[in-house]
Amino acid sequence: MNSTAPIFERRPVDWLNLIFLCATHVAGLAGIAWMIWGQFSWWTAGLALIYFAFCGVGITGGYHRLFSHPTYKANWAVKLFYLLFGAASVQNSALKWSADHRTHHRKVDQEEDPYNIRRGFWWAHMGWVLTKAKPPDFRHVPDLLADPLVQWQHRWYVPLAVVFGALLPLGLGFLWGDPIGGLLVAGFLRLVVQYHATFAVNSVAHYMGSQPYTDENSARDHFVTAVITLGEGYHNFHHRFQGDYRNGVRWYHLDPTKWFVWGLSKIGFTWDLRRTPDERILQAKAIMREKRAAA
Ligand SMILES: [Zn+2]
Ligand SMILES: [Zn+2]
Repeated sequence: MNSTAPIFERRPVDWLNLIFLCATHVAGLAGIAWMIWGQFSWWTAGLALIYFAFCGVGITGGYHRLFSHPTYKANWAVKLFYLLFGAASVQNSALKWSADHRTHHRKVDQEEDPYNIRRGFWWAHMGWVLTKAKPPDFRHVPDLLADPLVQWQHRWYVPLAVVFGALLPLGLGFLWGDPIGGLLVAGFLRLVVQYHATFAVNSVAHYMGSQPYTDENSARDHFVTAVITLGEGYHNFHHRFQGDYRNGVRWYHLDPTKWFVWGLSKIGFTWDLRRTPDERILQAKAIMREKRAAA
């Protein structure tokens, strides 16, 4: 196999995902229209921001840095928080998300990589969601299969997504007389923005930015990606040192997820935060500098 243009397996359209994503985008736009021409409430705007932060960290701190890569330990309350707001992010159960993500790291930039950037930017961003993939391979998530809370969320994923993704923001909106805003803005507009933030880790963070730690895969570090993804934009570091609970490794790197996990460790809710020794990080940077100088 040494053809110049790789041939990728064609996959049938996943109509359920396509219709759902179209509908959520329409509902998200309706949320903007509601704020402009319907009713604007600061309470609703605040709820949407809090929901974005909770659901965002459910994915970055929970699905990604706790379940996919066990980079620290957390008590059951933190796990439950991640699993409920992870479900509200409607990106599959933690079990399935992590199975896909571990495959992404094992097979990065190869055919088996679920969001392979070599198939193009849009494929890595959302094309892979809109087509039918093979069932996830649960052989690489034995630790999660053995976790009763993760199993519980996997089993009840759809009702949890409906209750925490839509009904709860709708119900909270009733408290200040704006249930429609609660549903459309904190529910759907937040969901759509969050989708593109998560998708950007698979597309933008494998496309734009620098490679200070490794050039053996397409992952890149970029401040802009870090801003829109709660710190996941230091993706070159993450692919090189995936066992580290930090993605932005320096204190000044914008990585709210790291600060959140570290903050919880101060009250004993998280512990065993794994850090790569400084000398290994410096060594990786030195190797990359040498490579560039030689080139
Ligand atoms: Zn990862
Ligand atoms: Zn990646």
